[in-house]
Amino acid sequence: MSFGAHIVVAFRRKNKRARSRAGSPRAGFAAGLRTRQASKLRANSGQPGDITVQELSRKDKTHFNKLQKRLRRNVGNAIADYNMIEHGDRVMVCLSGGKDSYGMLDILLSLRQNAPVDFELIAVNLDQKQPGFPEEVLPNYLSGLGVPYYILEKDTYSIVREVIPEGKTTCGLCSRLRRGSLYGFAQEIGATRIALGHHRDDIVETLFLNMFFNGKLKAMPPKLLSDDRQNVVIRPLAYCKEKDLDRYARYKNFPIIPCNLCGSQENLQRVQIKSMLAAWERQYPGRTESIFRSIRNVAPSQLADTGLFDFGSLRIDANRTDSPAIAEDTELYFPAISVVNL
Ligand code: SF4
Repeated sequence: MSFGAHIVVAFRRKNKRARSRAGSPRAGFAAGLRTRQASKLRANSGQPGDITVQELSRKDKTHFNKLQKRLRRNVGNAIADYNMIEHGDRVMVCLSGGKDSYGMLDILLSLRQNAPVDFELIAVNLDQKQPGFPEEVLPNYLSGLGVPYYILEKDTYSIVREVIPEGKTTCGLCSRLRRGSLYGFAQEIGATRIALGHHRDDIVETLFLNMFFNGKLKAMPPKLLSDDRQNVVIRPLAYCKEKDLDRYARYKNFPIIPCNLCGSQENLQRVQIKSMLAAWERQYPGRTESIFRSIRNVAPSQLADTGLFDFGSLRIDANRTDSPAIAEDTELYFPAISVVNL
């Protein structure tokens, strides 16, 4: 292994189920997921966190089934919309020990059972050597699932402590180091996709962080080619609400590892944005979803980026001979007018 990462636990089980179905993988994936939605959902017995689900009351079980169905549908739709996973892909699922990445692995495992394309899932956790990191939690959980996994050890904690002055937020450097380690490892194991557990709310928060603090209109894409073009990053939870993932984690009783072991304050700017969005959501339910929809529905000609739209070459069409209706004024939201008396 290069880059100093040391594999302490490695367990791999070859996926022997060969599924060969007709049709293009993308169309097939979407179709398969739709079939799955229609199928009767059941608790996955035998998984470590499922004891709680099995003990639920009838009413709670109905809630859980609806929640699980919604999450699976959201993940399936995101995968299909962005062609995230194709036949033969080896997907490295990054696990931090937080609710989102546990949820992502759980849902991907269940979707794979009925997916019409064959793909591998390999769970990877990077142990950054934060004090008090409970090393046994993830290996125990993953062994129980029977999923192939690697735990990498890399002491990024000490590097961050050395470089960043006391009292300053360490998250920026910490996540860059983590990303570098995971990207490098993905190449070593021949992963064709790196799945990260960012959800819809993370994406919307990032949009505002970039707008408020960087003067940029950009968020987190559901699918991304790394700068060196060696890794494709996917975010299968892109359509999932954080609230749903939170409830799902509690139902499934995932063994959550606290995210404050590094002793760093949470990124304060993100905390501010989170509380701003939460306040909006309380006042205007559905606002976060609406903002997320806007990220998927961009009109470059209605923004002001000269690199994105060729404003310079806009000209009146002097050759136009028909007399079309005056187009809807999309800027001022006036309706279309077909007759004008001057
Ligand atoms: S909270 Fe700690 S572990 Fe998480 S990104 Fe920030 S510095 Fe790294």
